[in-house]
Amino acid sequence: SPRVVIIGAGIVGANLADELAQLGHTNTLVLEQGPLGMPGGSTSHAPGLVFSSNGSKSMTAFAQYTIKKLTSLTGPDGRGSFLPVGGLEIATTQERLQDLHRRAGWNRSYGVQAHVVDADECLRLFPLLNPDLPLGGLLTPGDGLALAARGTQLVIERARAAGVEFRDRTAVTDIEQSGGRVTAVVAGEERFPADVVVSCAGFWGPDIGRMAGIDIPLLPLAHQFAWSTPVPSLAGVNELPHGASRPILRYQDRDLYYREWGDTIGIGSYAHRPLPVDLDTLPAYRPEDITGERMPSSLPFTPEDFAAEWAASQELLPDLRNTEIKRGFNGIFSFTPDGGSLVGESRHVDGFFAAEAVWVTHGPGIARAVAELIATGQSSIDLSDCDLNRFEDVQTTPEYVWETSQQNFVEIYDVRHPLEPRLSPRDVRVSPFHEQQKALGAFFLEAAGWERPHWFEANAALLEEMPAEWAAPERDAWSDRFHSPIAAAEVWKTRTAVALFDMTQLKRLEITGPGAGALLQGLTTSNMLRAPGAVSYTLLLDAAGGITSDITVARLSEQSYQAGVNSTVDLAYLSRRARHQSEENPAQWVTVRDITPGTCCIGLWGPLAGAVMEKVSRDDLSRDGLQYFRARQISIGGIPVTAMRLSYVGEFGWELYASADVGHRLWDVLWEAGQEHGIIAAGREAFNSMRLEKGFRSYGTDMTSEHEPDQAGLGFAVKASKTDDFVGKGALAERAAAATTRLRCLTVDDGVSVVLGKEPVYVGGEAAGYVTSAAYGYTVRQPIAYAWLPNRVETGDAVEIEYLGRRIAASVVDDPLYDPEMTRLRG
Ligand code: FAD
Repeated sequence: SPRVVIIGAGIVGANLADELAQLGHTNTLVLEQGPLGMPGGSTSHAPGLVFSSNGSKSMTAFAQYTIKKLTSLTGPDGRGSFLPVGGLEIATTQERLQDLHRRAGWNRSYGVQAHVVDADECLRLFPLLNPDLPLGGLLTPGDGLALAARGTQLVIERARAAGVEFRDRTAVTDIEQSGGRVTAVVAGEERFPADVVVSCAGFWGPDIGRMAGIDIPLLPLAHQFAWSTPVPSLAGVNELPHGASRPILRYQDRDLYYREWGDTIGIGSYAHRPLPVDLDTLPAYRPEDITGERMPSSLPFTPEDFAAEWAASQELLPDLRNTEIKRGFNGIFSFTPDGGSLVGESRHVDGFFAAEAVWVTHGPGIARAVAELIATGQSSIDLSDCDLNRFEDVQTTPEYVWETSQQNFVEIYDVRHPLEPRLSPRDVRVSPFHEQQKALGAFFLEAAGWERPHWFEANAALLEEMPAEWAAPERDAWSDRFHSPIAAAEVWKTRTAVALFDMTQLKRLEITGPGAGALLQGLTTSNMLRAPGAVSYTLLLDAAGGITSDITVARLSEQSYQAGVNSTVDLAYLSRRARHQSEENPAQWVTVRDITPGTCCIGLWGPLAGAVMEKVSRDDLSRDGLQYFRARQISIGGIPVTAMRLSYVGEFGWELYASADVGHRLWDVLWEAGQEHGIIAAGREAFNSMRLEKGFRSYGTDMTSEHEPDQAGLGFAVKASKTDDFVGKGALAERAAAATTRLRCLTVDDGVSVVLGKEPVYVGGEAAGYVTSAAYGYTVRQPIAYAWLPNRVETGDAVEIEYLGRRIAASVVDDPLYDPEMTRLRG
């Protein structure tokens, strides 16, 4: 079996060694710079609060696994490594109280118990609270305290007993590679051969990354933690010195959290200015000098940053007025550009994995996932939300990581709307149509660094002309944010005339070489060897039959394909597979190149799209001239364009691809020709609404690797006629037979309530599923929500969606809601 070398024996590295051993893999060496009993990383001083509420289903599942595992890790005293004291998040503002309902919804969506409780119940649960402050709270009874250092020691012992080797006081100084693969880990004079290297070095991750030539996009930041002297009213309540019995507590309105610590209170603060740490200036401790109070991950306390928080804490927990700050420190841990963890194999170096920026909360869960990844090639819990490869190149530069990670520290407890964009850095990536869009009053949101128009103020005037039945209903204040009624007019125009959509930010790869067809044939669910001009919507699966992406592939010539993919994760996968194929069979070489930045794309869609095109192109682009799901090189006003007869909004038209340099002109040519047909520019909000009306799924939101094609409503993309083998094929039938849930379409009965996604769905009064995508359907004149629901749910069944604590009646319907006969698309 491959030799795995793990760098770091904090909670993540130690659990990874243990999880590999549990899966039968013991050819593992763990290298740790500190002494194993107290290595001195973040785990060594972690107060261990485990709050599981998370908008990400996978992160919630990782936390649940952590709780289960730590509970089962018993020491010689017979006790586990988790104190199930429960979690309590309190609200002192109405806005926060509403948000706690939203967070409770995430818990219920993902099968975790949660209750929004009133102020009296908060006081009963946590008697130290000032009765005047809480308006209510979110109680998560299953949450509690991880005894992280103890649990870590226990898994080290267990892994050792299973045959895993641990070497402490061994600082890794280099990583060797050959032919794009890791080969060894170097520590000073010593060299340890390795087939797989996993960096579990916590906030030291960027240093280890540098040894392998990889940017690890995390920033070490200091975060304040302090202990009070004994609190009078805690006398005799808890076991001393570390015990706790009351819930762990969050006071997000002041960026503070608390845990009992025997008869004292431990206080954590995110309220201070961000305190980035330069790894090069970190004090170096000799392993023998590391103690509970002196360790590299702990910097001296800066009382001036805590003064206001101490006052806020004394106001919240008045008995703290009878105490002092006994001790505090500025502890270091990792922040990332989007706040998520960094997990998986690097796309640049084979065999180099990271499991970093991982909280104690998710540590054992993520360790399990990485062990599965190494042992079987895929994790049973979807990793998209924390995939190391999810960032674009512009998002891994030191400047970007520096700014955005600090921003995430500042905003960690803020109430944030799902559509809320970052304010800086902005205008990082703009399409060639940016100037035209600005001139039309585009309201931009940001994604993957791109500026994406959400709607255009220029279309506000259309609201006067628009027939009343297209108008959007009034929304509640929360779903009204980052929404404009103008989207209704943009849908109306797209459905009845013609609109331009900027599709530039959808990632495009060029796959070329004599082996291009063979590569794609082996990785996708459709026949990729059809004659040039064919376009396929197809799926990438993992070996277990889970969907890892949905992509649209056009064969442009014998040896050249263009694939519309979802993210850099797809780029990582396809380029790795291409590299391997080229090495194994040089005659079948193939390259994968990201052509997104150098190209652009316009969706020209609507019943009058043909009339516009006739004016600017001599090519035959009639319905029969270029059929649905066909591609061809054409000229538009003298601009070379690859036209694909596709539409993500369900109307006749094309995706028009050109090089970026001519994009500006392409827009102008189409814009001018479209004037007499009432052409408009339309944004993402209209796009999303029409996508859902047409039932088109969005990867990562509607389905993930947890799902197989049939249950996601994508069985049509797996071609029964494909005789060649492809990844996942062998697992499909069994997986489909075992599926217990299906992605279903719901419409909201009151016709007006628009939900936003991730809300729990109740069947027969029980939380039984959750919403993925949702939008108001302007054409079908109903709010739409897609949701994962148990198989037993039938079309016509009544269900309820919980939105901010309120139950909304909805009905299960057959999809798609718009043009199920495909007459608009196919003609
Ligand atoms: P670490 O524990 O830092 O382990 C990394 C290890 O790698 C270290 O032991 C280090 O010595 C070793 N290493 C580094 N470089 C090398 C090298 N070159 N060679 C060999 N070994 C190397 N999380 C929660 O979930 N709940 C909380 O309540 C919580 N509170 C926190 C409070 C504070 C004050 C801080 C600072 C963090 C808190 N965290 C909390 C975060 C949590 O502590 C960390 O995210 C977690 O411990 C990280 O675990 P790890 O195993 O990835 O990293």
